[in-house]
Formats: sequence, C-alpha cells, structure tokens
Amino acid sequence: MKVTIFGTGYVGLVTGTCLAEMGNHVVCVDVDAGKVERLKQGDVPIYEPGLEPMVIRNHEEGRLDFTTDAAGGVAHGDIVFIAVGTPPDEDGSADLQYVLAVARTIGDHIDRYAVVVNKSTVPVGTADRVRGAVAEQLAARSSMVPFDVVSNPEFLKEGDAVEDCLRPDRIVVGSSSAKAIALLRKLYAPFNRNHDRMVVMDERSAELTKYAANAMLATKISFMNEMANIAERVGADIELVRQGIGADPRIGYHFIYPGAGYGGSCFPKDVQALARTAHAAGYDARLLGAVEIVNDTQKSRLFELLSGHFGGELKGLTVAVWGLAFKPNTDDMREASSRRLMERLWEAGAKVRAFDPEAAGEARRLYGERDDLQLVERPYQALEGADALVIVTEWKAFRSPDFTRVKSLLSTPVIFDGRNLYDPATVEEAGIAYYGIGRGRSL
Ligand code: NAD
Repeated sequence: MKVTIFGTGYVGLVTGTCLAEMGNHVVCVDVDAGKVERLKQGDVPIYEPGLEPMVIRNHEEGRLDFTTDAAGGVAHGDIVFIAVGTPPDEDGSADLQYVLAVARTIGDHIDRYAVVVNKSTVPVGTADRVRGAVAEQLAARSSMVPFDVVSNPEFLKEGDAVEDCLRPDRIVVGSSSAKAIALLRKLYAPFNRNHDRMVVMDERSAELTKYAANAMLATKISFMNEMANIAERVGADIELVRQGIGADPRIGYHFIYPGAGYGGSCFPKDVQALARTAHAAGYDARLLGAVEIVNDTQKSRLFELLSGHFGGELKGLTVAVWGLAFKPNTDDMREASSRRLMERLWEAGAKVRAFDPEAAGEARRLYGERDDLQLVERPYQALEGADALVIVTEWKAFRSPDFTRVKSLLSTPVIFDGRNLYDPATVEEAGIAYYGIGRGRSL
C-alpha cells in the first residue's frame, strides 16, 4: 500500500519503518530539513534498539523515503498519517498547531480519496477539528475530494518502540467509516495475524483511550511513590511491599516500581492535558492533579536525600550520576528526573560527573559546555574521587556493579539508588552507605 507519514520523530519514524518492513511504500515527510537529510544518509537521529538497520535496509530497498516535500507526500499516500508532536500549551492543554498545520497541508494537496490517520496523542474532539481543517482547505480551492479521518493512537514505548510496533498488544482504530476501517484492517493485517488485536470504536473513544492508558500508568507510578514515602516514614521496605501486593493478580507485578519520578515526553504532558480536557468539560479531575503533584515532589527526592546526607552542604562536591535518559534504552531526556537532580545540584554549587550509555549527546545538546557538568565515557570513570554516586536510570549495565571498586573510587562511599536496584545489605557490607526510595531507612 502507499503510505505517507507526517513527522519523523519516535512515533512517525518507527511506524513508517515498520510499515515499510511489511512491504508498503512509505514516504516520511518532515519540516526539519536537517533530519530528513540525515535520514536519507542512513543516519538515524534517535536511539531506538533495532531501528537504524531497519531504516537503512528499507531505504536501500526503495520502500522507505524521506522528504520535506509535503505536496509530494500527500500525492503519494492512500493513507496519510499525522505523527507530529503535541507539546503542552502554556495552560497544560495539548498544543494542536502542528497537527492542524498538517491537516491543512493535506487539504491543500489531496487529489483523490485518502484516509487521514491521526497517530499523535490529541484531545477528544481533535478528529473533528482535523476533518474541519482538511475540508476548509478543500473548500478554499473549490474541490470535492472525499476523505476520511481516523483516530489511531499510538501505544509504543520508547526503548521498545520497534518491538511494540511489530508486535502491538492492541491496535485502536476510531472511525465511523466502514471504508476507512477496511483499509486500516488491510494495512495492519501483517501485525494482526496471531489473533485479532484491532479494537474498533468511535473517534472520541479512541482519543480518550490513549489518555486513559497513559494516565493509568502514571497513576500506578505515583501511587507506588506515595507508598514508598509512607514506607520510609514508618520503617517499612517498599520493595517487600511491592512484591507482597504484586502477587495479587488483580494488581500484578507490572509497572509498580517506586523511583525518582516519571518523565519523558508523554506521561507528564498527557496527564496534564487530560486534566485540562476534563476541566474544559466541567469536571475537576482531582486524582490526575494528585498524580502530577506526587510526581513533581518525587523528582526532587534524590536531591533531598543527598542534601540531607551532607547536612545541606553540597557546595564544591562532585556527584557521580549514572543514567540521564528518562528511562533505559533511549537517549530521550525530555522531563527526565536526572534534569531536576542536576539542576538542583548546580544551584547548590555541586558539580556533576555523569555517565549514560546513550544520552550523553542529548545532555550536551541540552546543557552545552559547562564547568559543573562532565560527561564521561565509562561508568566507573564517573566515580573517580566523587563524593557520592546517584543512580537515576535503571540501565541494565548498572544492575550489578563491583561494589568494592565503587567504594575504592568514591571519596565518600555513599550510593543514592533512585531506582532501588540494589540490596541495601549488600551495599552496606561493602562499606558503602545506602539510600534507596522507600526502604525504611532514609529518615
Ligand atoms: P517528536 O517530537 O519526536 O517528533 C515530531 C516530528 O514532527 C518532528 O520531527 C518534527 O520536526 C515533525 N513535524 C512538526 N511539524 C511538522 C509538519 N507540519 N510536517 C511534518 N513534520 C512535522 O514526537 P514523537 O515523540 O514522535 O510524538 C509524536 C506524537 O505521538 C505526540 O503526540 C506524542 O504524544 C505521541 N506519542 C509519542 C510516544 C513516544 O513514546 N514518543 C508514544 C505514543 C504517542
């Protein structure tokens, strides 16, 4: 099939590549000429396991192309995806300017029936606005080309994006057009062979499904962080509590890890945007507000533990940080907890020496050259003469360190384990002071 994707970020690039992998002819359009040029050279600007070789192969085999030519892109696709960003507006609601700009571009150039598929995370009612924007441009050029708009939210996880895209656990399709649904069923058939994963519904329900999913996941995290904060104060170990509650199949073990707060480009903005949608509809979403507040407080937790340990005297200290990305297997640092920690450390006059397997380049892009940030190439290099080690991201490489070596390299042997990776007793037996999240010992 002929497919066009507007936006070559995490969602657009991964979707386009996976669709090309299944034999479709995919054209990816982006306004960022630099990105398009890099992609044409086989240089993938984001880190996502398995993505680069797949992009290169499909590009070389002629199924995947990149362009800034929006008119050509619209002309190519029988199915045209919108996968551009929906960042938070000043009031927290989703900023739809990029989505609507693409819709207008489609309306400007569409010349035969096409299905416009919105993959961006957008507030309820956006499918109607996209339909309106396309129709307005068509009317402006007195054209009567038929089209359908489908809401097809994306559930891939950064770090597992290719795998999620190739083996989705569900494909939500919101549409009232039988013709559009049939086309999407055909497009997604190769991803849908083992059993039917397609959940068909109306556009509004599809739009809300995406927000409900992210809000539920964010709620689980904030709930566990709240339990961790209680555990800390009453002398309980949240890691034991976690296993105790996870054993109940109604609760389950997934996604109930306490930590240094959630970040990334999705949970923070989507929880806020859903709260704004609710507010605009006359409903005060108090739970969502609490989820956000708990998370914001939690992002400062590591700094507070450090400050408490050093009696508020952080000036002149060097803090080793393991992990900058908002989660493992990505280089994405949007809203990452590491940023809150580093920024507060800098404010307090401390220096940061950081290691991340993939995000050093992103950190350099975000913060530039500065005296109080050193990015190192190997994990133990970060520790040499540092006053503390803080674990912010749970990369596999950090799970089982040589604690004897850690102790010998640190000038003050103390670990702040923001992801509860270690057994406190093991760390302490190695002669290193240990702070975790909610481990009954951090008062
Ligand atoms: P991103 O910021 O990585 O990429 C967006 C891309 O769109 C950029 O390359 C930008 O240059 C391009 N763009 C902007 N305006 C354009 C236009 N008019 N024409 C063509 N390209 C244009 O964003 P992302 O992380 O891929 O997210 C895209 C959407 O998908 C968002 O709504 C997001 O909430 C949602 N989403 C993201 C994830 C994720 O894990 N990142 C998961 C599910 C859903």
